[in-house]
Amino acid sequence: MIFRLKILYLLPFLIGYYLFYLEYLNLSSSSDLIKNTEIFHNITDESKITKNNLNIQKKEIYVEKKTAQNNLKKVEITISKGDTMFSILKKFNFKNKEIVNIIDEIQKLFDLRKLKINEKIVFYKDAKDEVKKIIINLDIDSILITEINKNIKVEKKILEKFSYQESKEFYIQESLYSDGLKNNLPQDILIKIIKLFSFDLDFQRDIRENTLVSVSYEINEIKENNKIEYKDINYALISINGKELEYFKFLTDDGFVDYFNREGKNVKKSILKTPLDGARLSSNFGMRKHPISGFNKMHKGVDFAAPKGTPIYAGGNGVVEYIGRNGGYGKYIRIRHNNDYKTAYAHLSGYKKGIYKGARVNQGEIIGYVGSTGNSTGPHLHYEILFQNKQINPLTLKLPSGKILVGEEFERFTRSLKNIYASHLNLLYE
Ligand SMILES: [Zn+2]
Repeated sequence: MIFRLKILYLLPFLIGYYLFYLEYLNLSSSSDLIKNTEIFHNITDESKITKNNLNIQKKEIYVEKKTAQNNLKKVEITISKGDTMFSILKKFNFKNKEIVNIIDEIQKLFDLRKLKINEKIVFYKDAKDEVKKIIINLDIDSILITEINKNIKVEKKILEKFSYQESKEFYIQESLYSDGLKNNLPQDILIKIIKLFSFDLDFQRDIRENTLVSVSYEINEIKENNKIEYKDINYALISINGKELEYFKFLTDDGFVDYFNREGKNVKKSILKTPLDGARLSSNFGMRKHPISGFNKMHKGVDFAAPKGTPIYAGGNGVVEYIGRNGGYGKYIRIRHNNDYKTAYAHLSGYKKGIYKGARVNQGEIIGYVGSTGNSTGPHLHYEILFQNKQINPLTLKLPSGKILVGEEFERFTRSLKNIYASHLNLLYE
C-alpha cells in the first residue's frame, strides 16, 4: 500500500521528467536545423518569432526541406518531333514569363536547339506540383541541372565514371554476330572485333563451327544516369581449327593505341611483297616478251629466282582456296586473305605438309617450295597479288604499313601483354 502511494507521488515527477526529456530532444535536433537557415530566412519572418515557438517553427521548415530534397516527384518527358523547350515547359504549370526566364538561363550554357528527338528530359516536382529541378542529358557522362527556386540556377555536371573490364569466351555455331549476341557480348564490341580482324578474316566465309572467340574489353559505367559506355578491346583471340589469331591493345611510343600480336606485329600488316628469303627479283610485273612462247605478253606477277626447295611463305593471314596443278602455273597455291586480297604462288616443286584446300595459314608460315613446274625455264617463284580477283603489281602495292615493335618498345609491349592476358584469364575463370 505504501509502495503504491509512493508511485502516485512520483508520477508527476516522472511525467515532468519525460516532458523535459522531449524538450531536450527537440533542442538537440534543432542544432541540425541551424544549417537550414537559408530556407528558414526565405520562409519565415524572424522578427515575429518568439523564443518559445522558434523550435516548432524550425521543425516545420525542416520537414519541408526534407520533402523538397527527397520526395520530389520525377517526371520524364521524351522529346517528340515538333517539340520545343517552350512547348515542353508549357506542359507544367509555369507562367510564360517564367518559361522565358528558364530558357534564357539554360541557353547561357547549352544551345537548346541541340536537343534531339527521343532524348529524355527529367523534371522534378514538389508536393505543390511545382517544378523545382530540370535535368537535361548533354552526352553520355554530363548533365545540365536547372534548379528553380527564387532564382534559376543552371550548372553543368560531369558525372563520375566507373571503369572496369569484362571478359567473354564462346564458340561460334552460326556467326560471330548472332553467337556473340547470344553470349551477351555488346554490339559495340562485336563491331570492334569484326573491324580488328577484317584484314585476317572474311567473316562470311572463314568462320567454321566451333570457332573460339575470346575477348576482353573496357567498360565505363555512369551510375548516376544508368548509362554504359563500351571502350577499347584489350585482348581478342579467334581460333579456327587450332589456328590462332590473337591481338593485344598497346599504346605505342608514338602515342597511338594499336593492336599487335604476341610477336609485336601490328594488326594492319600488309601482304608480304617478297614471300621468300634470299631471292633475287628476276622478272617484274608488266609487258614482256614471254621466254617460252616469244610473244609479247602481260606478266601478271613478279618472278623471284631461288634454288629449288627454297621455302615459300604465306604472304598474309588467310585461307588456302586453291592447291594443285593449274595449267602453265604448274604446282600452284592461292590464298584468300580477306574480301579484297588474294595471293598466288606458281611453279612450286611441292607443298608443305598439312597445307590443303581450306587450311588457314598465317603470314610468314611455310606453304610450299620453289620449283620449276608448269611453263618455266628454271627454278623460280611466280608470285601474284590479286585485288578483287585482278592481278596487281606486288612491288607497288600500297597497304597500310604494319609496324613491328622492336627493342625497348617490344619489351614494354611484352610486359603489357602479360598483364592484359593475366587479367583476361582472371576475369574468365575467377
Ligand atoms: Zn612469272
